[in-house]
Amino acid sequence: MANRRHGVPDRKSENDMITCELHEPADLQEAAQYLRQYLDDSRLLAGGTDLLVDLKTARVEARHVISLHRITNLRTIENRGDLRIGALTTVAQLENSPRLTGAFTVLREAARQMASPQIRNSATVGGNIASAVPCADLPPVLGVLNASLTLWSPKGERQIPLTEFFSGPRATARREEEILTTIVVPQPPPRFGAAYARFSLRDGNSIAVASVAASLALDGHGAISACRLMLGAVAPIPKRAVQAEQSLAGLTLVHGINDAIALATQAAEPITDLRASADYRRALVGILTRRALTTAHQRAREATND
Ligand SMILES: Cc1cc2nc3c(=O)[nH]c(=O)nc-3n(C[C@H](O)[C@H](O)[C@H](O)COP(=O)(O)OP(=O)(O)OC[C@H]3O[C@@H](n4cnc5c(N)ncnc54)[C@H](O)[C@@H]3O)c2cc1C
Repeated sequence: MANRRHGVPDRKSENDMITCELHEPADLQEAAQYLRQYLDDSRLLAGGTDLLVDLKTARVEARHVISLHRITNLRTIENRGDLRIGALTTVAQLENSPRLTGAFTVLREAARQMASPQIRNSATVGGNIASAVPCADLPPVLGVLNASLTLWSPKGERQIPLTEFFSGPRATARREEEILTTIVVPQPPPRFGAAYARFSLRDGNSIAVASVAASLALDGHGAISACRLMLGAVAPIPKRAVQAEQSLAGLTLVHGINDAIALATQAAEPITDLRASADYRRALVGILTRRALTTAHQRAREATND
């Protein structure tokens, strides 16, 4: 077992240093041993772009940091119809992966809009999900792609739909001893398209003020046979706009889009903070829903079922 002692700023003052023990397990079993040993006083570390900020600002308290960086088999993307993304895959890998083709290219688009190149080189897909920050970019997109998560512990593995993973801001259904290992995205149906629309205060290194992901499948007559809509940064969790989704069933987009936008806007539960007022965010949801649905629809029409 590899152990190192590192200084991280004390939670009483950002300038005072305390000693924090860094553990570098070689595999999941060893990581689980550390988790069991240190329980509440430990955190898993992937890219560290959320966790190190949280430790520094005292949002999180942990004297044992369990780095997953040596578990390299979780850093892969496989596309065999279903897409399997290892939790330690970086956002930069996602952005540049030639395996993300067809409807999956929406993941590359979302990744490209996140943070900065430096952050994307460290930040992982698993960390983006597990941190459960309401404005995170990948959960809405993975949600409309109907992704599920594989959570591993020494007791075994379980699968959970991504949309059921989040229980509140920074709170999830992950049990203490579990490690997120894989994100599984099923092969999309024929005539399927997905899109992501996001608003931030500037183009680079700026988190989403509001975001909407949409996916659509069309039947042979061009009517909508399935729809998913997820809202980011406007509710305590990445939120499905279920009534808006249902309102589109069996309709062409042109006939259903205005009602769907109204219902998606009603589904938002935005707050006012330093980036935007609740009213502004709610207005953004309408605009972004229109953009996401229109682009997803265009892509579904063009899809050759690849
Ligand atoms: C300057 C800056 C800009 C940013 N911009 C954006 C942005 O535009 N969009 C966006 O979505 N995010 C943004 N972020 C947030 C952050 O970069 C992402 O959320 C990132 O994907 C987190 O991944 P990580 O690997 O760094 O996670 P870490 O910081 O290592 O971990 C985050 C949390 O997840 C847990 N965790 C990590 N991996 C696992 C696992 N496999 N199993 C269980 N738990 C795990 C950790 O214990 C921790 O609680 C930004 C951050 C910074 C510092």
